[in-house]
Amino acid sequence: MTAVIVNRWDDADAARRPGPLGERVYTSRLLGTDPYLVLHGGGNTSVKVRHTTVFGEEVDALVVKGSGSDLADIDESGFAWLRLDSVARLAGLPALSDTEMAAQLARAAVVAGGPAPSVEAILHALLPGRFVDHTHADAVVTVTNTPAGAELVADLYGGRVAVVPYVMPGFELARRCGELIAAGAVAGVDGLVLVNHGVFTWGDTARESYDRMIELAGVAERHVASVRRPFPTPPAMHAPPHRRVRAGLRSAVSSAAGRPMVVRSRTDEQVMAFAGHPDVAAFSQRGTATPDHVIRTKPWPLLGRDVDGFARRYEEYFERHRRSPGLRRLDPAPRVILDPELGLCCAGVTPRDARIAEDIYRHTMQVILDAEALGGYRPASIADLFAVEYWDLEQAKLRRAAPPKSFAGEVAVVTGAAAGIGRACAAALMAEGAAVVGIDLDPEIKSAFDGPSWLGVQADVTDAEAVDAALDAGTLEFGGVDMLVLNAGVFPAGVRIGSLDSGEWRRVMAVNVDANLSLMRAAHPLLALAPAPNRGRVVVIGSKNVPAPGPGAAAYSASKAALTQLARVAALEWGADGIRVNVIHPNAVFDTGVWNDDVLAVRAAQYGVSVEEYRSRNVLGTEVASADVAGMCVAMCGPAFAKTTGAQVAVDGGNDRVI
Ligand SMILES: [Zn+2]
Repeated sequence: MTAVIVNRWDDADAARRPGPLGERVYTSRLLGTDPYLVLHGGGNTSVKVRHTTVFGEEVDALVVKGSGSDLADIDESGFAWLRLDSVARLAGLPALSDTEMAAQLARAAVVAGGPAPSVEAILHALLPGRFVDHTHADAVVTVTNTPAGAELVADLYGGRVAVVPYVMPGFELARRCGELIAAGAVAGVDGLVLVNHGVFTWGDTARESYDRMIELAGVAERHVASVRRPFPTPPAMHAPPHRRVRAGLRSAVSSAAGRPMVVRSRTDEQVMAFAGHPDVAAFSQRGTATPDHVIRTKPWPLLGRDVDGFARRYEEYFERHRRSPGLRRLDPAPRVILDPELGLCCAGVTPRDARIAEDIYRHTMQVILDAEALGGYRPASIADLFAVEYWDLEQAKLRRAAPPKSFAGEVAVVTGAAAGIGRACAAALMAEGAAVVGIDLDPEIKSAFDGPSWLGVQADVTDAEAVDAALDAGTLEFGGVDMLVLNAGVFPAGVRIGSLDSGEWRRVMAVNVDANLSLMRAAHPLLALAPAPNRGRVVVIGSKNVPAPGPGAAAYSASKAALTQLARVAALEWGADGIRVNVIHPNAVFDTGVWNDDVLAVRAAQYGVSVEEYRSRNVLGTEVASADVAGMCVAMCGPAFAKTTGAQVAVDGGNDRVI
């Protein structure tokens, strides 16, 4: 098999970042962008430099990764500058609470305004190298997460490393390593292997420390590869479960979490093989590959679909291990779910969180299977994981995170989302934290937006099968549908009734009415499962032509009137499911695909006014933009309309025929 641990040092790239800080950033990023070494904010690095204080005195400074920075994209501002001697002295204390450690590290700052330093800052200060690197390399944690892990490490590395039995990260780990250093156990070695946790290396240069990290991880990787068994074949699958089953699972996860959550499901061969493995119930429940994963994945995954059972077990775990009565329990919802039919399902308040849990769990699956091949998967104990999950310093990281946005954890489907009002609605809903499935005929829909909260699906809304497939894709990606924005429609050229072709009439009805009926019918079971507090919402983009039709627009006006009536009946029928259905009647929104300069000029001429006058021909004398309609869409999905259904609201600047 091909080696996954590769030394990616490049002289030319390194030369672009000169000086100790530049080199520190360069190899931090090399480590941070290698998922077999560092995943999502894991790991930390430092460099020791001379620093001139404001008094002109030279002091030794420890420049260490800030807590909350990610090595993958860290730059100089992601490091904290501390007085080296003040930090190193802390390791000599018999005990130090988390709060006191944070306070002492803050007091040791030589540069104000930097980030809070890594929880491993004290250990970085103690280690002998000028540059120090710490990772949770998969292969190293695999080797140590076995019954004979410490002996195996000694065999593999000989005297190149010192082995540290598991101890809580932070102060306890630093104090223990301080004792080893005092006893001479660290003299002459290239690194520390921390059982059930990870590895430290150091060196006089950034390159030396990095090279040692790659070598040590490579030794472990080659050994693991020599015993690795091929991923098992997944059990034969029958028909995949209907999307309602996934939406039901997400609903249960959201209700356990007490807030809407997205759930991203994957069903590739690897995850199906792992989820269907005959021993999965045993080895998956033992704990995380390295303790800090617990923050992202909880201590163990849910097997199957009993979310309430998981939540009860989590609550028992909290009660059993809590030491302080004031400790606040985190939500008891699972973050990783393994189901032989649904595959690997990862939950998060945001799609990004769900993807992070997935990335971590994919690595965990391989670590578990490899450790099983090495004699059995034996990670840090559940009690040790509790200590990290409820560690005040980890909790502080979560507290520092920005509060979730108003639609965080929610999912919207928007039709006609590639341009105009649909695109504006998608953007506005995402800005409020929603994940959006955008449907459009235009193939550009796929790349209309970037990022984990967007899924663009090319589909014709009049093709029921294609719409079904889009809902399936959306449910796999985000777990369900909470908001349905029916925007796709056609606006045919003006024709008087006398010359209106029946084929054209039927085409307009097919897109503006029939397609919306099929989509509403298909989405209803998902909307009925939308989580509290907002539950299901439908926003229908109608038209000013419903209350005030125009000559030459028979098919369009009749279709939008039929759609409005359909929405009103849906409001009546679906109220019992907590689903609100409201209609927006926009008028004269000119920044959309249907209006180009020529059409505008013709219309303006028809009314005998200039294009400018035509644009703002309404009671308020204002121009109406797609973003204004999107703002109303967000409002209708939000708390202001929590008790309103079946309403029709104009966004038209005030129309004297409508008022
Ligand atoms: Zn660590």
